[in-house]
Amino acid sequence: MKSLHTVHVGGDRPYDVLIGPGLLGDSGHLAAPLRGRHVLIASDAHVAPLYADTLQASLCAARGELAVARFVIPPGEQEKTLARFAECLDALAALGATRDAAVYALGGGVVGDLAGFAAACWMRGIDCVQVPTTLLAMVDSSVGGKTAVDLPAGKNLVGAFHPPAAVFADTRTLRTLPERELRAGFAEVVKYGAAFDVAFLDWLDRHVDALLARDDAALAEAIARSVRYKADVVGRDPFEQGERALLNFGHTFGHAIEAEQGYRGGLNHGEAVAVGMVLAARLSARLGMIATDDAGRLRELLARFGLPTALPHGLDPQALLARMRLDKKAAAHGLRFVLLDRMGVARVASGVPEAAVLAVLGEATL
Ligand code: NAD
Ligand code: MG
Repeated sequence: MKSLHTVHVGGDRPYDVLIGPGLLGDSGHLAAPLRGRHVLIASDAHVAPLYADTLQASLCAARGELAVARFVIPPGEQEKTLARFAECLDALAALGATRDAAVYALGGGVVGDLAGFAAACWMRGIDCVQVPTTLLAMVDSSVGGKTAVDLPAGKNLVGAFHPPAAVFADTRTLRTLPERELRAGFAEVVKYGAAFDVAFLDWLDRHVDALLARDDAALAEAIARSVRYKADVVGRDPFEQGERALLNFGHTFGHAIEAEQGYRGGLNHGEAVAVGMVLAARLSARLGMIATDDAGRLRELLARFGLPTALPHGLDPQALLARMRLDKKAAAHGLRFVLLDRMGVARVASGVPEAAVLAVLGEATL
């Protein structure tokens, strides 16, 4: 297996995603997107102490005249706010950032979404270079150009489409990622196989051990393949008007579980999506679309990645159903789910009968 991969993302504003070990020390690649002399490195208090010096040294080695500043937020989703967004803009102002400045977003999806949104807005849009350091950010949030912050009224309610100038995913940074965050990222990786390519599911099945051992070549291949599926879909549907919805396989159930648990203390996003995919596969089987064995196989693969595959105790199927009726993706046509026509082929299904959904929820309680 080779370990440096490049995935091209097409569309109006094309860019490349580079994936491999040691990219943070690769000044040639990292500095290539730079157009001006101002750089803001945005990060969080877990990631900055680990990686910001290496990133800054690489940029300065390539371009001696750079003016570099740092903007570091406390870690966590609760920091993805308008207040932190305003602070990020203040940091750009203090740097004297001009229209050719670049923001390097070094961290997980929280930093990527927040810093990406600041880059989208500063002087009506400057370059953002995504340097994702979680598996979830590498396979999902750093690619596709969606940026946002949360409001008290809900997640990701304010944001912009602002594709990055480039993405650099250094697989070596995953060595310091907490185990639970790594496993959560694999839920989204499995999602791509289930929704788009059964051969990728087979590949994952054969490489679970190497992936959980954080083998660079295996990680780089899994990430590159995941990014390719997302890039294909996003390239055809950049503004989420159609096909991009397929990326939400497992997410209707998953969001309901997260919301019902109040977003704290329970399953994290990837874990909720893992359970959601098991439920969506069983719903597909119940509606006669895939074989029950296929749903079982998906469940086993998720379990091998150490992910939960049953509803947590105490979640009421009726309450989950009520959440799903409110899901912003539930259109006017009744309950809407991404289901499987067969393994590796996802489809949006509207008007799914509530009785079938309740039956699946009822049999999935621990
Ligand atoms: P995160 O950014 O909160 O990171 C998870 C934790 O890992 C944090 O504590 C962080 O400090 C720490 N961390 C990150 N990299 C590390 C490393 N290499 N070593 C040690 N610790 C490290 O969470 P996330 O799961 O990466 O991202 C979740 C966010 O992404 C959510 O806000 C979600 O809305 C967003 N998201 C956006 C998109 C999109 O298309 N824009 C898609 C999916 C998710
Ligand atoms: Mg997700």
